[in-house]
Amino acid sequence: MPRSALTATPRTTPGTDMRLIDTHAHLDFDRFQEDLDDILARAKDAGLIQIVTIGASSGMESNHRALALADRFDHVFATVGVHPHDAKIVDLEAVRAIDVLADHAKVVAIGETGLDYHYDNSPRDEQRQAFAWFIALARKRKLPVIVHTRDADEDTISILTEEGADEVGGIIHCFSSGPWLAERALDLGFHLSFSGIVTFKKALEIQEVARTAPLDRILVETDAPFLAPMPYRGKRNEPSYVAHTARFIAGLRGMDEDEFAEATTRNAQRLYGLPLIP
Ligand SMILES: [Zn+2]
Ligand SMILES: [Zn+2]
Repeated sequence: MPRSALTATPRTTPGTDMRLIDTHAHLDFDRFQEDLDDILARAKDAGLIQIVTIGASSGMESNHRALALADRFDHVFATVGVHPHDAKIVDLEAVRAIDVLADHAKVVAIGETGLDYHYDNSPRDEQRQAFAWFIALARKRKLPVIVHTRDADEDTISILTEEGADEVGGIIHCFSSGPWLAERALDLGFHLSFSGIVTFKKALEIQEVARTAPLDRILVETDAPFLAPMPYRGKRNEPSYVAHTARFIAGLRGMDEDEFAEATTRNAQRLYGLPLIP
């Protein structure tokens, strides 16, 4: 892709040289379509150099919308998969369809997949089956796997282990658990990605994981439009807000915020195989 398209606009946010990647956003949501150009301009001003939009927002169709966004914007990359909420629609035919979509040159991961025992929008056995199939697909495609896990730490680690997910690695996205999950995920070679949740006052356990996790395994994300960080909690989230999350974690770790941002950016580029921008 033309490098000029990625670097043509100088970063203009005063007082910061942060370079960031939103490693997990759902840009295909209807709520973003009206002012998407403004959202992407604000992201650039906040120092974002790349954004990964998740195909698995809802059902199968959102994969096509994510790929269309990746076609439209040089610095937007996509993942393909089916969210655990929709695991009930996943059969082998659906997995094959995702496999075909993964041929697209800007697909950088499989997911999000995983287990959500909080909402239980799909039966748990179907969530487990879909999760195992998507790990197998990630291994076949040699792509990292993006894991959504809620109230399902033990089953998540069992399935990642049994299905050999350590071969490709990936991300525990929107990390919202504690040290038990963090340690085991790190042992499997996974990265931990922190969303706006880490900035919430009561998120002490998540903050402790963000403070102590190895610097080369940390990512930041928005999960936009959900989970806006402080001070935007409750509002529509957008990629530019990832800067607040990065600053907050840098503060927890007593690190220079530009240095912390740069580390997360390098991690994301390495894991997703994104083009390196000097
Ligand atoms: Zn998720
Ligand atoms: Zn998500």
